[in-house]
Amino acid sequence: MLNNWKSEYSKSLSDLEKLVYQSHLIGAEQSLVLWGGGNTSIKTIEKDFFGVPQNVLRIKGSGSDLKSVEAKDFPAINLDRVLPLLEREHMSDDAMVDFLDHCLIESSAPRPSIETLLHAFLPFKSVVHSHADAILSLTNTKKHKDIIQKALGGSIIVLPYMRPGFKLSKESAESLEKQNNANGLILVNHGLVTWGNTPEEAYSKHIDIVTQAEKFVTKTRKHKTQTETQERFYDQKLVSAVTPFIRGLISKNDKSVLTFHSDEKIIEFANMENIESLIKIGAATPDHLMHSKRLPLFVKNTDKYDSEELVLEIKNAVDKYTNNYTKWFSKHSDHAHPMLDPFPRVIIIRGLGMWTAGKDKRSAHIAQDIYSHTIDIVINADSIDSYTSLSDQQSYDAEYWPLELYKKSLAPANKELSRQVALVTGAASGIGKAITHRFLQEGAHVIATDVDYESLKILSDDLCKSYGNDRILPVKMDVTNESEVLAAFENIKLNFGGLDILVSNAGVAYTGLINNLDSKDWEKSFAVNATGHFLVSKHSINTMRHQNIGGSIIFIATKNVTSPGAALGAYSAAKAAEAQLARVIAIENGEYGIRSNIINPDAIFEDSNLWSSEVKEERAKAHGVLAEEIQDFYRKRTLLKQAVTAEDVAETALFLASDRSMKTTGAMIPVDAGIRDAFVR
Ligand code: ZN
Repeated sequence: MLNNWKSEYSKSLSDLEKLVYQSHLIGAEQSLVLWGGGNTSIKTIEKDFFGVPQNVLRIKGSGSDLKSVEAKDFPAINLDRVLPLLEREHMSDDAMVDFLDHCLIESSAPRPSIETLLHAFLPFKSVVHSHADAILSLTNTKKHKDIIQKALGGSIIVLPYMRPGFKLSKESAESLEKQNNANGLILVNHGLVTWGNTPEEAYSKHIDIVTQAEKFVTKTRKHKTQTETQERFYDQKLVSAVTPFIRGLISKNDKSVLTFHSDEKIIEFANMENIESLIKIGAATPDHLMHSKRLPLFVKNTDKYDSEELVLEIKNAVDKYTNNYTKWFSKHSDHAHPMLDPFPRVIIIRGLGMWTAGKDKRSAHIAQDIYSHTIDIVINADSIDSYTSLSDQQSYDAEYWPLELYKKSLAPANKELSRQVALVTGAASGIGKAITHRFLQEGAHVIATDVDYESLKILSDDLCKSYGNDRILPVKMDVTNESEVLAAFENIKLNFGGLDILVSNAGVAYTGLINNLDSKDWEKSFAVNATGHFLVSKHSINTMRHQNIGGSIIFIATKNVTSPGAALGAYSAAKAAEAQLARVIAIENGEYGIRSNIINPDAIFEDSNLWSSEVKEERAKAHGVLAEEIQDFYRKRTLLKQAVTAEDVAETALFLASDRSMKTTGAMIPVDAGIRDAFVR
């Protein structure tokens, strides 16, 4: 590992700026820390609110990530209040958290890391703590004491596993007092701590020790699997065929979002001779466990299986997993907390790859990163010696640690469409765009499709700024082209695991009296306004049925379905087919919990591709008004005398997508400000 410290750059920085710089260097190394793991600190003098200089510890606040942490994310703790704690014998977690809250120099600062006392008690200006893969490859072995000595020499203190908190902090300080020339401190099944009189020194020591460990690991790592026994029958069709089943099986309590990943390392891991015993040993550290759960789900696939046989294997494996989880919970629980969901976060199928799950795409992605690093640690430790980890009870205490449960309880509440995946067609403009935006606001993941990819990409780049990169996926799709529809569905399954909501919206208007109508225009209207809805809903229904957790399909039709107008024959007839399709889907899919409903909007002019100037001219002529008066004409003919907007339609789509309409299927809801002639009857 390279030492990236630039002394020339750092020499003009303040203490706090040096800490931020040091943290970014540590955070940039994925094999040191992942997603909020690890922490850094500096001891310095700062004036408090009253202008009085105080000895303070600046330590990373909980919830921030070293790679992107900023100065404001490091709360300042009054050191003179904290240090006398060293005299105490015991301190509970709750008492410690409460005490630290009262030591904050600024009361509005973020909550300091749970490892604050460890940093505070070490009598050095700068302290760095990571969960380095190479260090865990040494500590998570049966003979770890000998192995650490062999790899790193005797100048490192090794402390047995204990949960972070007062006891670990006090024992760390005491062991350093006994061995005051030590270079670093290794916490078994947890990580590495180094220190120095400057941030550069603590950082450099950290990199040195990790590099030494890495060299030892590389020298010792041997490939236990032979290439000839490697079975890789990666088959994207099979992967996307089984994915919605997996999503459904683990979404029985709360829906999960899945992401799929496969590479040489995962394939090698799944082919290890002792894989089945290895994956039963557990996560590398409590930090890893929080994201990946204690154990992954492993399915011993063979190339003989077709997708149906594989799905059956997966189903049995999930049942076994949840049974074992429930047993493990009852065995170790003190009954102070209810059981968390018993489903796996990591699913490995031999020969195919790894699925990871979370409450959203971001958490699924974090689990993927964390388990990918776990695989490195397990393969390394297993080739050095035998991989070991936390005991069952220690794992329980980590997953059900009251401080972690409390942290979870502070997470923002679910929004109406949280944990859900929606597909919106015709999303680049008008109604589709408004629905995409509204669904993202309510927490959904949206696959936004359109034939006009350029506009779609501009929209999605813009929405990413507000909702992050993980929640919107722009896909070019022509709803009339089944191979493009199929490709979009592969994309949906591999990226999100499946689908909960379809908004079948893409549409196109052709005008002309029937006696003059070009048959090509008739066919084009039917291709988009009828067949397009059929193709997209057909594949949505299949995905939803495979998941077996229900679903909502929303068809954007038109007021013309109940009240057709002259010169819109090709449009109105095709839209009538769409409405009938929606009802047949409601009839055929009620028993699967899949709902199908229709929205009939009328006369939405803003940002609409439907209302080309040609259509406007034509409709104005049909109603005997001027083209520039047409918008006003439509408004005035409504009962409410209101103009209808795309946002009005999006609100109704949200209602039909949500559980608030869970008893409604086969319905048609006008969003037209009231047109007597178009009443649904
Ligand atoms: Zn730690």
